[in-house]
Amino acid sequence: MSPKNSEFHVGNIATELPHIEGLKRRGLMLAVSAPSGTGKTTMCQLLLQQDDNIQLSISATTRHPPRPNEVHGVDYYFVTSDEFKRMLADGELLEHTKVHGNYYGTPRGPVEDILAKGIDILFEIDAVGVNQIAAFSRADLVSVFVLPPSAAEMEARMRNRTKEEESFIQHRLVDNLDQFQHSHNYDYVIINKDIEDSMFKLRTILGAERMKRHRLRGLDNFTKIMRDETESLIAPDVLAERNNKH
Ligand code: 5GP
Repeated sequence: MSPKNSEFHVGNIATELPHIEGLKRRGLMLAVSAPSGTGKTTMCQLLLQQDDNIQLSISATTRHPPRPNEVHGVDYYFVTSDEFKRMLADGELLEHTKVHGNYYGTPRGPVEDILAKGIDILFEIDAVGVNQIAAFSRADLVSVFVLPPSAAEMEARMRNRTKEEESFIQHRLVDNLDQFQHSHNYDYVIINKDIEDSMFKLRTILGAERMKRHRLRGLDNFTKIMRDETESLIAPDVLAERNNKH
């Protein structure tokens, strides 16, 4: 990747709206899913560092104990099974799933607030969760599936990252057997061979999706103001001639 490309922060520079009174963008929901060992978590962490206008949706999980580098309230809300059941019963979860015997779910409250402020939300969730979010609001959802460049590379990443026991790795490999097919249901697929290249692709997707017309609020009003102001620049006789023709 050339230095020129790596310096081009497509997600920050070119894709946000200029400040114009009354013109706003509704936030989008960027869901990223992947089998184990693809580099998805690294990509998501880099995106959060590189782009100020996207926030991570912090999931609740019954997975216990947290991994050594994980912090309650930052990576996950680590909750008991009883607390998770209560959240579910009280309608506090936007979506939920069971993975590797543990429950995971997205707290509903922050999502609507963040979207309405025009800030995007990043969901690191599985395919079951993405389907539930699509049912909640398809228009706001942008889904990305990350694949490894090869099975050998995927295995190497799993072993480097987790330093887990062999049986753990074997279980994750078995789970991955069912994961690849989900790629067909996503809006975009990134094959993560080179992290810098993959990040450029992810930011490009986010940048283009931000510019979609249906996310703009106040566009009708803005075009009306443009029309009125343009009209005021036209000489009365020229305007009258134009209006006669219509
Ligand atoms: P891990 O335990 O390795 O952090 O996550 C295991 C799997 O659960 C990953 O595929 C991850 O994307 C998924 N996951 C994490 N949080 C959620 C969530 O809130 N909802 C859903 N549906 N999946 C989640």
